[in-house]
Amino acid sequence: MRDDEAFAVLGAANTVLHNLENAETGQRGYLLTGDESYLLPYRRGARDLDDTVLNLERVVSNDEKSVELVRRIEHAKTDKVKELARSIELARSGSRADAIALMQTNEGMRYMESLRTDLDHLLNDWREKRRVATRDAHIRLVYGAAALAVVAVLVCCLMVYTLFIQRRAFAKVHAYSAALDREAAHDPLTGLPNRRRLLAAVDALATPSVDESRRTGLLYLDIDGFKSVNDALGHSAGDALLRELGEALRAATRQQDMLARVGGDEFVLLATDCGDDEQLRQLAGRMIARVREVGDQKYAGRFQIGVSIGIATYPDRTDSVEQLLDIADAAMYEAKKGGRSIYRFGASPGYGTSNVVRMMR
Ligand code: GH3
Ligand code: MG
Repeated sequence: MRDDEAFAVLGAANTVLHNLENAETGQRGYLLTGDESYLLPYRRGARDLDDTVLNLERVVSNDEKSVELVRRIEHAKTDKVKELARSIELARSGSRADAIALMQTNEGMRYMESLRTDLDHLLNDWREKRRVATRDAHIRLVYGAAALAVVAVLVCCLMVYTLFIQRRAFAKVHAYSAALDREAAHDPLTGLPNRRRLLAAVDALATPSVDESRRTGLLYLDIDGFKSVNDALGHSAGDALLRELGEALRAATRQQDMLARVGGDEFVLLATDCGDDEQLRQLAGRMIARVREVGDQKYAGRFQIGVSIGIATYPDRTDSVEQLLDIADAAMYEAKKGGRSIYRFGASPGYGTSNVVRMMR
C-alpha cells in the first residue's frame, strides 16, 4: 500500500464529514432564524455530498472492509440528507415549529452518530495503514541508504586496493629497472662501473655546459703478468685477484674520480679536475705501488704482478675529451713496451710526448 493512497482516502473521508456538517449547520441556521442565506451552505453541502461519497468509494475500492464501511456511510448520509431536506421543506411550508420538532428528534442525531462512527473507523483504519506505509517507506529508505553506503565503502576499498596494487607494481617496475640500470652500468665481478658507464661519463664531459678550464686526466691501466695467475692457479684465482686489485686501486684514488673496469685486466681512472702533471705522476706512482703490494702479499714473489699506465689529459695534450681513451690506451702500450710497471703520458699528434718515468722494482 502506498502512502499517497492512504492520504487520498483520509482526505476524501474528511471532505464527506465536512460537507455533511456544512449541510447540517445551514439547516440549523435556517430553522432557527428563518434566514434564507443559511440555505446556501446547506445546499452546497448536500449537493457536494454525492460526489464526495462517490470519490470515497472510488479511493477505497481496493479494500473490502473499507468498501463495506463506505456503503454504510452512504446509507447514513442519504438518510441524514433526507432528514435535513424534510425539516427544511416543513419550515419553508410554514411549519417551522414542526421542522424544529423534527430536528430535535433523535432521528437525525442517530444518522449522524452512525455516520461519524463509521467514518471514525474508516479514518482510524487508514491512519494506521498510512502509519505502516510511512514506516515501511522509512525502513526502505534506511535499507536503501545503508546499501548505498556499503556500496560506497566497497567502491572506496576497491579504489584504495587498486591504488595499492598499482603503486606496488610501479615500485617493483622501478626497482627492477633500477637494478637493470645498475647491472647495465656495472661490472659484476668487481662492482666497479663498466666500459659503457665510463664512455657515458666521457661523453658527458663533451657537453658545452662542462667547465673547459678544468683539466681532465684519463689513466688507462693494464695489469702486468695477470695471465700467469690465471694459467697457474685457475680462472677463479684470477677473478679473486681482479677483485682485490679493483679494491686496492679504488682505495688509492679520490672518491670523486671514476674508476672503471673496461676489459679483462684493464681499468680506467677518469679524473676531472685532475690537477697538474706532478699530481698525476704521484697518482700513477701510488697505483703502481698498490698493485705491486697486492701481488707481493698474495703470491710472495711467485708472480710478477704490476700495472702499466697510459695517461692522457685534456685540453693540454688532446684535441677533445673523446680522444682521451685512445691516447691513454696507446700510451699504456708504450708503457708495456717500455718495460712494464711504469706510466707514460700520451698526446694527440702535434702535442709531443714527454714525462716517461720508470718505477723501480
Ligand atoms: P701483459 O703483462 O702483457 O698485460 O699480459 P697479461 O699476462 O696481463 O695478459 P693480458 O693482459 O694480455 O691478458 C689478460 C688476460 O686476462 C686474458 C684473459 O684470459 C684474462 N681474462 C679476461 N677476462 C677475465 C676475467 O674476467 N677473469 C679472469 N680470471 N681472467 C680474465
Ligand atoms: Mg695485462
